[in-house]
Amino acid sequence: MSDANSLPLLGSGEKGLRIHDLVKAPANTPWAKAKQQSWDASEPATVYTTPEVLADGTPCSAVTVILRTKGCHWWWSSGCTFCGYFNDTRDDVTNEDLHAQWAAAKEKFDGFKDQGMVKVYTSGSLLEDREIPVEFQETVLRDCAELGKELIVESRCEQLTEEKLAWATSINSTFTVAIGLEAYDDEVLRFHVNKGFTTKSWDRAVANLKKFNLRIKTYLMFKPPFMSEADALDHCVSWIESVAEHSDEISVNPMNIQRGTVIDRLHRHNEYRPPWLWSLVDMIQRAHPIIHPDNGINGDPDQVSRLIVHPTAGGKIRGSHNCGSCDAEVVAAIERYAVSGSLLEFDGLECSCREVWEAEVNLERRLPVPLGLSKPRRGSVIQRLRSP
Ligand code: SF4
Ligand SMILES: [Zn+2]
Repeated sequence: MSDANSLPLLGSGEKGLRIHDLVKAPANTPWAKAKQQSWDASEPATVYTTPEVLADGTPCSAVTVILRTKGCHWWWSSGCTFCGYFNDTRDDVTNEDLHAQWAAAKEKFDGFKDQGMVKVYTSGSLLEDREIPVEFQETVLRDCAELGKELIVESRCEQLTEEKLAWATSINSTFTVAIGLEAYDDEVLRFHVNKGFTTKSWDRAVANLKKFNLRIKTYLMFKPPFMSEADALDHCVSWIESVAEHSDEISVNPMNIQRGTVIDRLHRHNEYRPPWLWSLVDMIQRAHPIIHPDNGINGDPDQVSRLIVHPTAGGKIRGSHNCGSCDAEVVAAIERYAVSGSLLEFDGLECSCREVWEAEVNLERRLPVPLGLSKPRRGSVIQRLRSP
């Protein structure tokens, strides 16, 4: 009997096929290629300012410079399940292009004269030599040191070696490194996020950053793929607890669906609902005693870390959302908490959809199914009930 199935469950004695080789990388689809070639490599992807607070708590204006780069080296070989950064990259960006983008960003905001903080994001790691020419890394570090601006860069863990940090701090002695840890849990990192590093590598990176007195910002992901709402909520609180002592800031990113990613596929098939805004409120209320053991607010002496939650695309179907009518109010309260650190921001928030959310989370705790039971807000309820 011939075996027509090329992927038998128990294997055929041959070396196994990797799913990674069977799925077409979204970055190589015609629409993604066309989009990449449409970018002007000498212009940054975006430059904008936002209100921020400096390390010492002083309010300031911060400029965020998102550069058009070759993207993340982990994405070239595999990539995280939710990352849509490849949408913003071009694989032929040169050192000269990056310098031109940086000059354009500085020109747009008058040499950053009104900004106390500069965030430089590269859709990958600034300190990774395969992604960013060393000369350009040096320009960013040196310029910000000379201009006296607080610098924030993003990085994966493996770049943050003693050797690299010794070099970087010889140019700029005080900057913040933001690491997309996503989850302090090796199983989640491997099977839900496909992060390509472990909690141990984060521990090592943090120890090195501390050696050089650099500030640490940790990104956590709220509700990675293949996780129920209830699990997301419980896990995120425990991850915050694990990283708080070692992070100057914790930024929780509630999942938002970016085009062409694994999570995008799940979402299209109605197998994933982005987090409820009520879950974020509940998560903050449960995490607050970890951040402020004496129930203080931001700036108080009991502050262990700073907890920031910014629901990107909040209220939209592709971002964290509730029923549609209370979303704006709940998003605003969450954003106010990131600034004040006061639970009073949530006083008086009410909507009938809170009961629906509560029922879903309670059901998921009693009936733990891997993809969860949350119903998407999309489409008609009747159609959903009729579908098999
Ligand atoms: S490490 Fe960061 S930039 Fe790279 S694929 Fe993952 S989320 Fe995207
Ligand atoms: Zn509502």
